[in-house]
Amino acid sequence: MDISNLLNDIMQIQEINCDRYFLCTDLKTIKIFAQAKRQHSGCNKCGFPGLHSHSWRAKTIQIPPLCSFAEAYLQIQYERFKCPLCGNVQSEKIKGLHRKFKKYSTSFVETAGRLMEETTCAASSRLLACNAKTLWSIDNYRTKLLKKKFKLPDDLDVSRLSADEVHFRTHKVVNRSGPFAPRWDIRFITNLVATKHAKIIANHRARNDISLKNCLRVLTKEQLSKVDFFALDMHPGFMRVAKQMCPNANICVDRFHLAQKLNEAFDSVRKSELWKAKKINDSFQEVMLSPGRRFMFLERNPNLSNEEENMLGKLKLINTQIHHSMLIVDYFHKVLDEKFIGPFRSRLAQWYLLVRESKNKHMLAFARLVRKYRINIENYIKSNLTTAVSEGLNNKIRVLKAMAYDYSNEESYMNKILQRCGFLNSRCMDTTALYSNSDFGTDPAHQ
Ligand SMILES: [Zn+2]
Repeated sequence: MDISNLLNDIMQIQEINCDRYFLCTDLKTIKIFAQAKRQHSGCNKCGFPGLHSHSWRAKTIQIPPLCSFAEAYLQIQYERFKCPLCGNVQSEKIKGLHRKFKKYSTSFVETAGRLMEETTCAASSRLLACNAKTLWSIDNYRTKLLKKKFKLPDDLDVSRLSADEVHFRTHKVVNRSGPFAPRWDIRFITNLVATKHAKIIANHRARNDISLKNCLRVLTKEQLSKVDFFALDMHPGFMRVAKQMCPNANICVDRFHLAQKLNEAFDSVRKSELWKAKKINDSFQEVMLSPGRRFMFLERNPNLSNEEENMLGKLKLINTQIHHSMLIVDYFHKVLDEKFIGPFRSRLAQWYLLVRESKNKHMLAFARLVRKYRINIENYIKSNLTTAVSEGLNNKIRVLKAMAYDYSNEESYMNKILQRCGFLNSRCMDTTALYSNSDFGTDPAHQ
């Protein structure tokens, strides 16, 4: 078998005659010397086949890693000839050379792009022995290309949707417009999740009704009418938009968000009790209620040591407010554990009684919130949804952000979320054509 044919096939490059190769002593770099077959691909500019040979030139391009060689280069000799159409000496077109990144082959760009779907540019640059900044531009270029071609899968199950926001960044406002203007500029991104697939199907900057509306626009009218359950944050704007755009959806409040609000309410109780303890100089309670020990009161914390259990027991004896609040928190989780609507209602009624008896203003405020959204919470029980998907995705996004040591560009952060947790990647889209062609036929740089 001819080695040149093998190289042609595996490198997706034009027909070449391989004459020799050079291996670096550390067995990490390979350099292949080859000559393009004569007058095969025509003029670089107009494609007209060349007639009279003028000279030969050589060009070195990086190709994807070959077996154990992380760095692989191809030095290709190509012909220059007098083009009758262009009227001057032109180079022969080298197939498989990337149109934008001229030092790399299209297969290298696609390999790097696929790698960067999973990891950061810096990590890919170490693996592929390539400049991180170049890889960053490759990633940006490729993501734009994919976004143009992006289409949600035909068999997308949209019967269960959920919307959630993730934090992007918090800025200190330097030039505040007035004394009452906000000091911090906090930015969020709204994600729309297809719960059945556990994937994010769209996202948009900010967390308001407009951003959710924009997210929902990726779905067709028919798909929107198929939405059965829509899990949301307790945000009036979100609820209004969801009701408007998904006429048949049962809006439910996610357990994750309920637990968040409940923990906030409990933390307010802890703060007010800490304040009281400081007033009467009760050192034991001050230590127990300090922010650092907040985790001790968390729901069903199984990691408490014997000593911590004892201290918590003592605190419960001294401080009835904390004791009652802990019981309320625990009981509320039991209420949410119910699988059927009947038992849920009776347990919730008992829970209301418990809250009323405690006479704690923070817990009473939370109970009012529960009463306000009771129908939506009941929908949650009916839907049998769990928090696993939204928690898992939030975790994945947190890891993504930490891996990149934070993002400064909102657009690329949003694209990365879609790539890592959604359908905007080579696993869900067919990008095989990119191995041999530098784009899908359209070049975003030219439009
Ligand atoms: Zn020409």
